Amino acid sequence: MEPRAFYVAGRPAHGEGELTVTHPYDGRAVGRTTLATADQVEAAVAAAAEVSAAAAALPAHARAAALDHVSRRLAERADEVAALITAENGKPVKWAKAEVGRAVSTFRWAAEEARRFSGELQRLDTDPAATGRIALVRRVPKGPVLGIAPFNFPLNLVAHKVAPAIAVGAPIVVKPAPATPLSALLLGEILAETDLPEGMFSVLPLPNERAADLVTDPRLPVVSFTGSGPVGAAIRRAAPDKHVTLELGGNAAAVICEDWASDGDLTFAAHRIATFSNYQAGQSCIAVQRVYVHEWLYDGFLPRLVAAVEELRTGDPTSELTDVGPLVSVEAAERVEAWVDEAVAAGATIEVGGRRNGATYPPTVLSGVPSTAKVCTEEVFGPVLVVAPVTDDRAGFAAVNDSAYGLQAGVFTHNLQTAFLAHRTLEVGGVIVGDVPSYRADQMPYGGVKGSGVGREGLRSAMDDYTEPRVMVLTGV
Ligand code: NAD
Repeated sequence: MEPRAFYVAGRPAHGEGELTVTHPYDGRAVGRTTLATADQVEAAVAAAAEVSAAAAALPAHARAAALDHVSRRLAERADEVAALITAENGKPVKWAKAEVGRAVSTFRWAAEEARRFSGELQRLDTDPAATGRIALVRRVPKGPVLGIAPFNFPLNLVAHKVAPAIAVGAPIVVKPAPATPLSALLLGEILAETDLPEGMFSVLPLPNERAADLVTDPRLPVVSFTGSGPVGAAIRRAAPDKHVTLELGGNAAAVICEDWASDGDLTFAAHRIATFSNYQAGQSCIAVQRVYVHEWLYDGFLPRLVAAVEELRTGDPTSELTDVGPLVSVEAAERVEAWVDEAVAAGATIEVGGRRNGATYPPTVLSGVPSTAKVCTEEVFGPVLVVAPVTDDRAGFAAVNDSAYGLQAGVFTHNLQTAFLAHRTLEVGGVIVGDVPSYRADQMPYGGVKGSGVGREGLRSAMDDYTEPRVMVLTGV
């Protein structure tokens, strides 16, 4: 198996040592790459700094053409890319295909945003002393971006950083997760087909300690990090003077409100929650981890939920029929097992699931969980759902807020007043009404409060983040 190239200033390269990528389902080697050397890292960062001014001056048509090319090529190679995602991450191929589809649309949408990203014109003559003045506000890239990505969406979470950088004309250095670098390298291969100037992008496989050096490099003034809370906090401490965006973990919750009461409502919610607490084997920052059900609906909802979870097929992620694959590693599955055992020892009941097999943990529903158990308070990042009755909708919202995290929440209601109450009350970055919290679209600002992060992604938000306003005041106009 030939090692896959990584990319230094837009060119394919091989470095030192070896990084073997294994399939989480059966442990077999599925790909190899090498680690970037110190000289290669220096070359990537120096080239990014060097091309920065030229990148900022790239015309919109050139930025958009590159982004459209990436979108088109990902679509053409979709089956191959999805198979690679499944191989390195272990997610079922149907979810890997969904991930590729999202990346195709992220780059296409970024091309459109690149065409319309124009700044603002503001009138200043609201003040008599400023009669005849207007302000032209352009957004200028802050400089090269460092993008650090986690393992759970090996293509998309890289795309969410690369696409807005190209859209505004900012060079980007990407560091993929060590367990899942291959999809990012394939993206590098496609980026290398474009006419983007040399130095505009690099994709560097690196061990964590060496990524930490990039975080403090002053030539990379913007850091966009997606990953776990402790690493995010360390990055913020290490780079207090930089613009740092942190997309961190969560323990997302849904509330089944008092009015979500028909048989059809409950069956719909049960299926959506069963699917989205277990998609990506629960390894999504917005997978449903907690569900709070109005007490008068609880007895009708729980059996439907259990039945919907039992319908999910767990197993080989390369099968089109599989809904739930392995976690990223045996250690990750062992941690989930330990947390479930801890909850059970504290009085919880396993309604369904609960027996680990290697890296695979079955979809599991727990009831009667003390609110202090780790499966409630921490991010499980596994296919485990805690279900609990609440006395009313407000109590459900309070339970959602009783968390160190605040990424997104799902509120099952038809009632507009309840929806607005949820939107006012919930301490999260986004409220999804009528569905699970597990929804993200490129148009919307995406991110969290409390331990879930700092700043927002979403194309437009990231484009604003990667740039700063520069005002020109015109006089006598
Ligand atoms: P992680 O924090 O272990 O690693 C993330 C990335 O940081 C990896 O590329 C890793 O190599 C790198 N890294 C580790 N130490 C570093 C250091 N000292 N300096 C610089 N880089 C370093 O996270 P993970 O286990 O890969 O991903 C899972 C986490 O990501 C979960 O907490 C999940 O909720 C979170 N996540 C958040 C979002 C979001 O948008 N909010 C999306 C997906 C995943």
